[in-house]
Amino acid sequence: MPWPLVNVILALAMAYLLLRMGAMILGSFARPVPAPPDPGELRKVRLTYRCSICSTEVRMTMANDEVPEPPRHCQEDMELVTPVDDI
Ligand SMILES: [Zn+2]
Repeated sequence: MPWPLVNVILALAMAYLLLRMGAMILGSFARPVPAPPDPGELRKVRLTYRCSICSTEVRMTMANDEVPEPPRHCQEDMELVTPVDDI
């Protein structure tokens, strides 16, 4: 087999591989919503938050962390009412 032909075949194989990789990367971008966390990763929590502006209170029952980010109300972070020691 003459060498130039081998080069052409190699180039075609490389082009095909790059195309496949590009399509895979594009496919991962196109995925609309990231997979929800495993149910085992969620923790049952009992945290109460109060809005410092309007005094609304909310209870968080499930979180992805033992000390999750506080929710927002009136465009401010809500205050954690439950002491963290109680969890
Ligand atoms: Zn509020």
